Amino acid sequence: MTEDMSLLEKDKEYVWHPFTQMKEWVEKEEQLIIERGEGIKLYDTEGDEYYDGVSSIWLNVHGHQKEELDQAIKDQLDKIAHSTMLGLANEPATNLAEKLVEISPQGLNKVFYSDSGSTAVEIGLKMAFQYWQQLDEDVGPKDKFITLTNAYHGDTIGSVSVGGIDLFHEIYKPMLFNSLKTPSPHCYRCAFDEERKECDFTCIKELEKMIQECHQEVAALIIEPLMQGAGGMIAAPEGYLAKVRELCDKYNILMIADEVAVGFGRTGKMFACEHEDVSPDIMAVAKGISGGYLPISATLTTDEIYDAFYDDYETQKTFFHGHSYTGNPLAAAVSVANLELFEEENILERMPSKIEMVTDKLEEFEGLEHVGDIRQQGLMVGIELVKDKGTKEPYPWQEKIGVQVCIEARDKGMILRPLGNVIVFMPPLCSTKSQLEDMMEIIYKSIEEVTNDSS
Ligand SMILES: *Cc1c(COP(=O)(O)O)cnc(C)c1O
Repeated sequence: MTEDMSLLEKDKEYVWHPFTQMKEWVEKEEQLIIERGEGIKLYDTEGDEYYDGVSSIWLNVHGHQKEELDQAIKDQLDKIAHSTMLGLANEPATNLAEKLVEISPQGLNKVFYSDSGSTAVEIGLKMAFQYWQQLDEDVGPKDKFITLTNAYHGDTIGSVSVGGIDLFHEIYKPMLFNSLKTPSPHCYRCAFDEERKECDFTCIKELEKMIQECHQEVAALIIEPLMQGAGGMIAAPEGYLAKVRELCDKYNILMIADEVAVGFGRTGKMFACEHEDVSPDIMAVAKGISGGYLPISATLTTDEIYDAFYDDYETQKTFFHGHSYTGNPLAAAVSVANLELFEEENILERMPSKIEMVTDKLEEFEGLEHVGDIRQQGLMVGIELVKDKGTKEPYPWQEKIGVQVCIEARDKGMILRPLGNVIVFMPPLCSTKSQLEDMMEIIYKSIEEVTNDSS
């Protein structure tokens, strides 16, 4: 039967796509089927090429079909594709753990593997919870979590429980555990009506008030350092992260840094926490870890937390968690090669001038009538479109202004995916300055054309 169907027909018949209203997907005649990638370009089955403007959803680092990464997988495949880490060790996962500890903020000395950002977060939450239960001192129940509004930490029930995006999370409320929410430092739409750069960090003061009242009940605070990603590319003001760390220290709360999106060079340093000299107690990493090649993630933690689980089996302090593909050798091997490329190609050293170029170019966008706010941390950019710049009135979500801009960009040769009314630009870190310029030109023109039509 299926032989007569085209690939796209088969897709529409059998596949349920993530974060996708399938009615829209199925009813729209044309859909791109990506056949291959090369460098920062994607090629579809029609032979058309597109810039990978969001790094295949925030993953890709060195481009597609990167020789060294391809080779690392092939070499590992000649040995073994997968063996379990339950009771056994493997070579690439061990080597990767050593490298991760080397490059991570100070104090993070132990690596627990899983296979997605969501599970890395989930593991961090469970570790933090169990840690306090197994401490000998009486420190209070310590069984709750603090999170920020607009937070995104993944799609599993635990990670959704610490999420703060109503559109994604509201319907699942009855399934979730309660978390305590503090307003995110969203300077363009400040919850306390303060002005950017002139404020008194009221958000931090409010957070401290909340913590003062409930710290004995709180196991950990979880945060996306520097930039809340899926919540709309919300950049925290300088100093916010360090102040959060101070509060966690002062009130004996663990700090979980979700570096899934911002880690591995995205913000210009290997990890975003480094910008403010912060060492979290637990750090979740995924996305860029394998250069965007294979699913693998890690939850790193301190000796102190690790030691609270380290005891005779009879004490029942084991961390009973693990996935079938935990520490997959192919994924670990390509991750090691990814980190080697950071060194060999001086990726981080080459970031500042690229970031500066993007910053300069973004200034031109401010002149556009419907660009309300531009938020950038390294090569992570959000451009918020508004109906009225003066009042910051948003476009009604039904207008799908973000989607419209991305469709326009696609016609101009670039794949983008928006977050509501926020246009996201997350190019692979290997993009050259002229490629960055090219891509930004496409975004500029797409915004200009779509928003001119809409006003
Ligand atoms: C993408 C993301 C996750 C979830 O990662 P998955 O691999 O998609 O499960 C968690 N936290 C942040 C900050 C993310 O951007």
